[in-house]
Amino acid sequence: MDLERIHTAVAAYVGDAAPADAARLEFFEGLYGVLDERAKGVAAAGGYTAPSAGDLREILAAGTPVFSKAPVAIDAGAFGATCAAVAAFMADHAGLEETAAAALRAYDWARFAERADLGQAGSDPTAFVNGVLANLGSFDVPADLPANLCAMTVMFALRAHLESASNAVRDAIERAVAEGGEPAPASIDCPVCGSPASASWVGNTGDTSGSGRRQYCAQCGAQWHYDRVRCGRCGTRNQGHLHYTNVEGDRAHRLQTCDECGDYERVVFQEDLPAGVPLVMEVEDVAMAPLDAIAQQREA
Ligand SMILES: [Zn+2]
Ligand SMILES: [Zn+2]
Repeated sequence: MDLERIHTAVAAYVGDAAPADAARLEFFEGLYGVLDERAKGVAAAGGYTAPSAGDLREILAAGTPVFSKAPVAIDAGAFGATCAAVAAFMADHAGLEETAAAALRAYDWARFAERADLGQAGSDPTAFVNGVLANLGSFDVPADLPANLCAMTVMFALRAHLESASNAVRDAIERAVAEGGEPAPASIDCPVCGSPASASWVGNTGDTSGSGRRQYCAQCGAQWHYDRVRCGRCGTRNQGHLHYTNVEGDRAHRLQTCDECGDYERVVFQEDLPAGVPLVMEVEDVAMAPLDAIAQQREA
């Protein structure tokens, strides 16, 4: 993670933000600091080798997430320590009720990591998080520790353990594409870890047309090329079924809604960002949180 750019973007937003929005941005800036520290430790321990260019081209052409074929080895001791660090930061800074904060701090994350299926965490992180959520009882999660806090702790911690491997895959894909002369197919879910995209951005992607679109995965940090006119959820290219809406006065952050699947995606338009705000998807993901509430109101 680029903590300096994250700081610049957060500082630029916080000036004009409502108190609750500013607090959320500052919470995440602090959390990213914790995750980056842990991710550096994981990267220093090493151990991930991306598939060869030929294997990668085959994996991507088949539409299979790379981690499902070349999983990330996650060390139980290190993962437990990351979960504990994330839980402690959330307990101290997320503005939680005292009972929930105390439960988050007191839970034995080392023992959780020993019992969890970390093979699955490194090959299919979304299935892993869903599996944890469905089996909280088997991990002795107490009733006063809310399930969503448990899931958030695990998802944030996973980011720290997947990020350096995801970066290695990104570099390997770039090399494979350069050698093969064919662009990687534009997949709907993350081509690296298989998680759904968190958000998307439109702007200077360096594509030949000048302006392109990229999807962003908050789970592993990957970004990948995507069609400008296409639903980020179901993949339809039917332009008549896709619409953009935004809060009046903020064209930088829009909802792409789709008549075919009824779902939506949050999209950043780089050229509409306020002056002085660098495009950092880790921050945009947080800055666009209010759009989720708007989308849910539309559905209701
Ligand atoms: Zn991913
Ligand atoms: Zn759709």
